[in-house]
Amino acid sequence: MDSLHLARGSGSQLPRTLANNLAGPVDVERQCGVSKDGVPCARSLTCKSHSMGAKRAVAGRSLPYDMLLAAYQKKNQAKQQSKSISSDSSTGH
Ligand SMILES: [Zn+2]
Repeated sequence: MDSLHLARGSGSQLPRTLANNLAGPVDVERQCGVSKDGVPCARSLTCKSHSMGAKRAVAGRSLPYDMLLAAYQKKNQAKQQSKSISSDSSTGH
């Protein structure tokens, strides 16, 4: 009854035996990542369950939390803006 994982696909799935539920799927570049009982928080960088200090203390980020958060918010803003600005580029001809 457990031969499901024996089925071979096209080889796109990597065998992940360890780190299955610990410190695995959370991307601290985009997610909170604050460890709670050994499990990193999987909420977004704007997670309100954890303090800024706790998020700053998370290891593994390529940039300080503040910078990642700024980039994250900027991205979100740009997304919203490009949504609201549908066709206003009639200048420049
Ligand atoms: Zn969190």
